[in-house]
Amino acid sequence: MRERAMVEAPVNRPMVQALSLTKRFGNLAALDSVSLDVAPGEVVCIIGPSGSGKSTLLRCINQLERIDGGAIWVDGELAGFRRTSDRLIELTDKEIARQRLASGMVFQRFNLFGHMTALQNVIEGPVTVLKQPRAAAIAEAERLLARVGLAEKHGAYPSELSGGQQQRVAIARALAMKPRLMLFDEPTSALDPELVGEVLAVMRDLAKSGMTMIVVTHELGFAREVADRVVFMDQGRLIEQGPPAQVLSAPEHPRTRDFIAAVL
Ligand code: ADP
Ligand code: MG
Repeated sequence: MRERAMVEAPVNRPMVQALSLTKRFGNLAALDSVSLDVAPGEVVCIIGPSGSGKSTLLRCINQLERIDGGAIWVDGELAGFRRTSDRLIELTDKEIARQRLASGMVFQRFNLFGHMTALQNVIEGPVTVLKQPRAAAIAEAERLLARVGLAEKHGAYPSELSGGQQQRVAIARALAMKPRLMLFDEPTSALDPELVGEVLAVMRDLAKSGMTMIVVTHELGFAREVADRVVFMDQGRLIEQGPPAQVLSAPEHPRTRDFIAAVL
């Protein structure tokens, strides 16, 4: 019995573990002791008012910001530090750049290279950073562009694509780096309403494929349908979290209730 229990107990290492994160901008605590674990394959949607620290949390997980306190592990690796036998040593910028490859990030603004076609945008990272052979990178990019529904647009420049199409290229570009985790920061907020659905559909497929995802969004319908867990933040703090049905339909905290009432 005992042995069996031990075999079955999985060592289920979180994909992301953020422990007591603090991030200050001057006197402002953009993150105030935020802790968050995300399991492999889990989809976590983060909601909360403007200025509550949602982007800062993603940017800290992605090491676009340096944290002032706490610690972050991504896939078991401590962000920003290397451990020796008796102490932690800060990583160099180059080492941090390597760590950052673990997560792909998609922003509100699509940030495509305007002078490159969709295909060139997608192969740029794999060829220049990952040193993939060009032919292999192109084959993979074609596959990814097909996956986001843009097979026929590989030769188009960003200016020739709708916002929804540009955002789907941005998702393909992030996936081309083979991230273990995808971070989305309000990926549909800059889109015309009729273009939101096509981007959410791509994200839904990605979630179904088992990708670990942290999604900052105001699309509560998407959160309800796709998220395993919804996290509500306010004023740099994680106020409440739980299954979507709980947080979105029966929130415990008055601030969560007020926010959801205002968004709906
Ligand atoms: P959210 O994404 O939830 O809207 P942010 O994480 O962008 O919130 O911001 C949290 C707080 O930190 C806000 O008060 C914002 O003004 C502040 N902040 C974010 N980035 C910076 C920065 N680079 N410099 C100064 N203040 C910042
Ligand atoms: Mg933000």
